[in-house]
Amino acid sequence: MRGGGSDARSPLLRPSGPRSFTSVNKSPGMYFHLPVELQETLLRELRRLRLRSSVLRFPVLLLLFCAAAAGLVLLKGDSWLGLPRRLLGDNLSDQAFRLLMIGTVVLCVAGALAYLLRQIYRKCSIEHHRFCAPCNAVDSDDKGYCPVCRLVLSEEGGFFFTSYSNEKQLIERHGLLPSKEA
Ligand SMILES: [Zn+2]
Repeated sequence: MRGGGSDARSPLLRPSGPRSFTSVNKSPGMYFHLPVELQETLLRELRRLRLRSSVLRFPVLLLLFCAAAAGLVLLKGDSWLGLPRRLLGDNLSDQAFRLLMIGTVVLCVAGALAYLLRQIYRKCSIEHHRFCAPCNAVDSDDKGYCPVCRLVLSEEGGFFFTSYSNEKQLIERHGLLPSKEA
C-alpha cells in the first residue's frame, strides 16, 4: 500500500496472512453451531465434501511438486547428488541412478502431501465450546464469557470450524448461520 493516499483504509481490505498452497477457495474461518440432531448427518456430508476436494487436489499438487523436484534433479543432479552416486557405486548407470533419485523424490513428495491432506481431513470434526444463544456468539478461546455481551457462560455446544467456502455453503443450506467470535 506504499505510495497510496492517506485514506487508503478501504473496507474492501481483507486480512492477509501466509496463504497455504491448498488455499484454493479459502477465506477467513468461521464457527457454526451445529444442533445435536444435525451433527451426525452434517459431519458426514462435510467429511465427504472435504475428502472429495482433497482427492481432487492431490494429483495436481503432486504433479507440480514432482515436476519442480524432477527439474532440479535433472538440472543440478550432478553437483548435488555426488555423494549418493558414490555410495551406490558404479553398478548403476547414470540413467538408472537419475530414475532412482526421481522415484525417491516422488515418493517423498507423495508421502508429505498425503500426510498434509490427512491432517486437513482430520480437522473436519466437531469442537465443543461454550456459547451465548441470545448473541449467537461462540467462546472459541474458552474464556468463560460471551465475546459480545460479556455474560458468564455455562451452556456448551458442538461447533464446526471451517474456512472453505464450499463447506460454508453446505452448512448454510441447512439454515445455520456463522457464530460471532471475539
Ligand atoms: Zn452474549
